Amino acid sequence: MNEKLIIIGTGPAGYTAAIYAARADLHPLVFTGGQIGGQLTTTTEVENFPGFPEGIMGPELMFNMSQQAEKHGARFAYEEVLSVTQEACSGLFTVTTSGGAYQAEAVIMATGARARYLGLEGEAELVGHGLTACATCDGAFYRDVPVCVVGGGDSACEEANFLTRFASKVYLIHRRDQLRASKAMQQRTLENPKVEPVWNSTISAYHTDEKGEMSSITLRNTVDGTESELEVKCVFMAIGHTPVSNFAGDLVERDEAGFVVTMGAGTATKTPGLFAAGDVADPTYRQAISAAGMGCRAAMDAERYLLPANKFPILTPVP
Ligand code: NAP
Repeated sequence: MNEKLIIIGTGPAGYTAAIYAARADLHPLVFTGGQIGGQLTTTTEVENFPGFPEGIMGPELMFNMSQQAEKHGARFAYEEVLSVTQEACSGLFTVTTSGGAYQAEAVIMATGARARYLGLEGEAELVGHGLTACATCDGAFYRDVPVCVVGGGDSACEEANFLTRFASKVYLIHRRDQLRASKAMQQRTLENPKVEPVWNSTISAYHTDEKGEMSSITLRNTVDGTESELEVKCVFMAIGHTPVSNFAGDLVERDEAGFVVTMGAGTATKTPGLFAAGDVADPTYRQAISAAGMGCRAAMDAERYLLPANKFPILTPVP
């Protein structure tokens, strides 16, 4: 059976697209991927999502969105999408997942972005042993010990502040001498007595103890190249994210940083019937609320595309 609309991803963009598409009777099938609820499930309090004057915890916000989508008739499949291809003559999409292959007349990709690491030697093996990109998930394991956060953006500041609940000290390691984070976030972070900024510095090596757990790092000064050692029991990476779009192959155009290029203010990609919303296609704003707005637009774009008069091209079943 062909699906009318498949939505890939369950961040604010995916859930919002699901709510709008379900209310438009498109009966969307939503693939959750491995990280159900997306990046916001790894954050703490969200203070800038409209409608929550006291703030709301990221996981709760995402759970509410999933409930709302389900209430309106969206269906969820807990599978990872491996590829999306398009049948040349029918225009139908084949979405291959960890659970099988599905066909759909239209697809919205709302797959967000994946945390970046520094690319140092031995990094992959250290993940989960004192190296992580999720303070909410792992912060409580590091009580009364020194830890560090790498990065200078809002995420790094948010994580550093959060980690002061547990750690004895939080070093904020930034490659420049000025934070990129918003002024309010900068102020809150730099005024926190447990946060110590380490300016103009980057990590050049990780060191482990006899159990293979992180014990210290080598810091390289980005101005004069000098090196020093710092004892930390965990490194929390917050240096941005890489958009997740490889599964779409050349059905989409990407910019230099890997973000999916959409047409003008809309969400259409270069392939008719394939739409992109949220962080996977937003190099500029990357906010929960802007992702939700883009998800809304993607569902409305898909709905228009699926109207019989606008169908491109005329559908014939795939053999
Ligand atoms: P970001 O703003 O892109 O910041 C990434 C940081 O990592 C930058 O400071 C960057 O340094 C540094 N960095 C990048 N590559 C590096 C490398 N190879 N080595 C060392 N440092 C490196 O990413 P983000 O903080 O994840 O934020 C993403 C978006 O989400 C932003 O729009 C942000 O405003 C938003 N956000 C909002 C909130 C909130 O409002 N509560 C919370 C989190 C995120 P440079 O500064 O030198 O480039």
